[in-house]
Order: sequence, then C-alpha cells, then structure tokens
Amino acid sequence: MDAGGRIRQWRDSLLDIIFPRCCEVCGTPLVNGEEVICTGCDMAMPRCNIHGEPFNTIHQRLMGHAPIERAAGYFYYYRNTPYTSLILSAKYRGRPRIARTLAARFAEEIAGSGFFDGIDMIIPVPLHRLRQLRRGYNQAEQMALGLGDTTGIEVVTDVLSARRHSTQTRRNAYERWLNSLHIYHVTAPEKLEGRHVLIADDVITTGATMLACCDAVHKAAPTARISVISLGVTSLT
Ligand SMILES: [Zn+2]
Repeated sequence: MDAGGRIRQWRDSLLDIIFPRCCEVCGTPLVNGEEVICTGCDMAMPRCNIHGEPFNTIHQRLMGHAPIERAAGYFYYYRNTPYTSLILSAKYRGRPRIARTLAARFAEEIAGSGFFDGIDMIIPVPLHRLRQLRRGYNQAEQMALGLGDTTGIEVVTDVLSARRHSTQTRRNAYERWLNSLHIYHVTAPEKLEGRHVLIADDVITTGATMLACCDAVHKAAPTARISVISLGVTSLT
C-alpha cells in the first residue's frame, strides 16, 4: 500500500471511531471490511436468487408489453422488515452510496451466472430533473453505477428521460400504473437499436415504473433487447 493508501486507511479508522459506521439493517457498528450491512445481516438477507429463472416474479409483473429477457432482483423487500431501511436510506435519507455499494456487491454475486453477458449498456430509471435536483441524486443511477463498477458495462443516462409527474407513494397500484404510463421517453432511439440494454431501478413493487420504462424503450427502438434489474423486490404475498 502506498503512503496515500495508508493515510486513507488511517483517516477511515479515525472517522470510524468518531462517527462509527453502523449496519443499515440492525444498527450495530460495522467492523473492518464490512460495508453498509454487517456480516450477520448480509447472511440473513432474503436474497431473491431468481436471475437464472426464465419467467420469474419480475417477468410476471412486466408481462404483456415489451418482451423482457433477463430479470434479476437482489433481495425481497417486505413492508416493516429492517431490510426496508436499505432502500429508504438510499432513496430518501441522502445516502446514495448504499445503493451503489449494494449494487456492486449484487453484480459480483451473479456475474458468474452470465447474467451480464452481452449487455451493452445499463440505463437507470430516470427521475424527473426537478426531483433529482431537489434530492441531489438519482438512487437508480447510483445503483447503475454500482453495477458498472463491478461489470465495467457503461451506464447511460442520456437516452431515457422522465416527464414531470406527481409522487407515487400514496397511490394504489392502479393509480400508479395510470400515472406512470407515458412519463418516460427515449431521447436518442438510434443509440438503442439492436443493443441489449439493462434497465436498473432500486426497487420493483407492482412493476409499473419499470414497465413504463421498458415500454418506452421498446416503442422507440423495437430492435433493442431489454433486461431488467433491481435491488429490492416487494413480496406479493
Ligand atoms: Zn446488521
């Protein structure tokens, strides 16, 4: 390790003493080598493990519109379980690093399955420009960057954009679905034709948002192949 590396390590250790980094799930202080969640919570995480299935729960939620090739989710996301805080902290509590770190780790775990083989670009589900300005970041983009960190696949943020729409959180599934139709549009379809794109979002609930993005890509560039990936997948049961 060079001098800079030693200084960084020393600084990080000192920061850990002053501001202990804690597990985002259970709150215990993290030890050296742990990032975002502790080893115990990592081992107990309800991993989806569905990326090898040709018609998994994500495919089912996105059925009937654009054809979806591969679909992967990192962990199941139940309401009121501590793992929910991984998503909430990344999204609303100003800690986008969580999404990036988890995504990089997820990519490492599934890369050996061939999930990323032949993917030309990763496209994060866009936030409307104003909302991104307000939040300071787009958590889906952070997630996409984490996938890119591990796989080396390019993250592309200038082909898909979001029109303004009202917040999704207090709507029922049908309202969300109506609300999400037509809010995404492709600004550079020529960049997508014939390419295999991986659309990334931090969470898949009903699938309405992801479906709207896939539809927009499919309509603008019918020869594009589409796969999808998310960190959290809500359980339907
Ligand atoms: Zn923990």
